[in-house]
Amino acid sequence: MYDLHCHSDCSDGRLAPAAVVERAARNGVDCLALTDHDTVAGLAEARARADDLGVRLLSGVEVSVNWTASGNTRPRCIHVVGLGFDPGHRQLVAGLAAQESARRDRAARIGARLVERGAPGTLERAGELAGGAAVCRPHFARALVELGHVRSDREAWRRFLGDRGPCDVPVDWVDLAGGVGWITAAGGVAVLAHPGHYKLSKPRMRELVGAFRDAGGQAIEVSVAGRPAAERAELARLAAEYGLAASSGSDFHDPGQTWRDLGSQPALPEGAVPVWDLPAVRAA
Ligand code: MN
Ligand code: MN
Ligand code: MN
Repeated sequence: MYDLHCHSDCSDGRLAPAAVVERAARNGVDCLALTDHDTVAGLAEARARADDLGVRLLSGVEVSVNWTASGNTRPRCIHVVGLGFDPGHRQLVAGLAAQESARRDRAARIGARLVERGAPGTLERAGELAGGAAVCRPHFARALVELGHVRSDREAWRRFLGDRGPCDVPVDWVDLAGGVGWITAAGGVAVLAHPGHYKLSKPRMRELVGAFRDAGGQAIEVSVAGRPAAERAELARLAAEYGLAASSGSDFHDPGQTWRDLGSQPALPEGAVPVWDLPAVRAA
């Protein structure tokens, strides 16, 4: 079984990379990609444990990119998963370093906005929870709950952290073509992550998939844990129409989130071309 999308505590996941690999193996995953947000810091530890356990590990990353739809002025953030690349490739490494500084800058601005809105101390606590990794929004959510500023994770996102909320600050992410370019330059395959999460109209979705393919993207995530079967069928049709392969991943972050445990996503629909059959992934 494949799981080509998951997170460790090198970004916003709860488990160390080795523990992610152990849990994946226990769940029956025999080919795993660790895809932390804008970092490859966990790959060496994950690879060592995967080798011990006989799990095949693909190098992975989830890059945040800015994409501006036609007629829009403000870009939206889209996630692009990279698979099977050389994690030491210079252009990719330099690009991810710039993304990390954009993320740290965002964290500082979110922290300031939370202070203005009566939730002091959140950036400091979120930084402790991140434990040296760049602070992601789920760290803010946990900090807000711990400090008693909100009662639940859900309230943290609804009141503060969600899209179009008070902490939705513009971030200087790489653009779509640039992010895809880093992955392909490093010999990897770029995958459009969880297309159903962006809440796009059908014409907008086609515009995004077309732009992604034109930038050199080769696959889209068709099977994502916790998404409806009808969406999977629709994405499989879209992939076929645009000549893209289909990927499959849980987006695992936290053992407490049982709806997206490692390996829990459904199988790809019949007829889809699996991303693992592409030459660049086979060779990785
Ligand atoms: Mn995440
Ligand atoms: Mn994502
Ligand atoms: Mn993810």
